[in-house]
Amino acid sequence: MFAHDDHTAVAVSGGKDSLTLLTLLVKMEQRFPNSKITAVSVDEGIEGYRDEALQIASDTCRKLKVKHHIVSYKELFGVTTDMIVEEHLGKTPCSYCGVLRRKAINKAAAKIGATKIATAHNLDDEVQTVLLNMLHGDPMRIIRSGPVLQDVRGRFITRVKPFCDIPEKEIVLYAYLVGLEFQSVACPHGNQALRNDIRSFLNQMEQKHAGTKFTLQKTAEKLREQLSTTIHPLELRDCEKCGDPTPHRLCEACIMLESIGPQPLVDSLTAAFI
Ligand SMILES: [Zn+2]
Repeated sequence: MFAHDDHTAVAVSGGKDSLTLLTLLVKMEQRFPNSKITAVSVDEGIEGYRDEALQIASDTCRKLKVKHHIVSYKELFGVTTDMIVEEHLGKTPCSYCGVLRRKAINKAAAKIGATKIATAHNLDDEVQTVLLNMLHGDPMRIIRSGPVLQDVRGRFITRVKPFCDIPEKEIVLYAYLVGLEFQSVACPHGNQALRNDIRSFLNQMEQKHAGTKFTLQKTAEKLREQLSTTIHPLELRDCEKCGDPTPHRLCEACIMLESIGPQPLVDSLTAAFI
């Protein structure tokens, strides 16, 4: 996942997974003098939730002597998650937030000159996503959600998930054992009914049939290997609105932003990244 001279942007939310990942990568990095780590956080604009998490993330970065770079939806996209929820009731904020957060992290990583993006998705997250994609009838997405996402054309910064084989319980245990401070309250908008059902189902299966999650992860890996040999990478062009690479006229984030009303997207993006 890493090269000895990588500049890794670690996506840090302030939760247990991302702060554990940051702590461990900083430890490992000390053995590689040519490598560099910067923590990147996204302020989605969720009042009474994100502020606390960002504070915890900043405090941890200070302790670990890691640079902390924060970007916000407001500055990048002209909207906040609170605004999307308030003005567009009925839409699932998590799906918007996921797409926008990914774009925000990409932008932040590009700005600081990172060569890798590391996210703290754990084994539980990964296998839940595999089942979600199947239940959504979107098996091709399984290819695009693996432990290492590399764009052969080099238009995206490679994303890695070092915790993809680590069960959530073990991460929690580590965080408690080393006394990490982390945000434990859940997002007030988080209500992914289907993912919650899948989480309970997988936990029940794991309880009754130990190893279920690892098996499912291995199955997904085999599917990825097979599918990737038969599928050609999509032809990419520049998004007409923001210039990011996309197979369509507009990228996923711009399509979403258009659907929730006019935003000064180009101006805010230009202003934020000049
Ligand atoms: Zn776009």
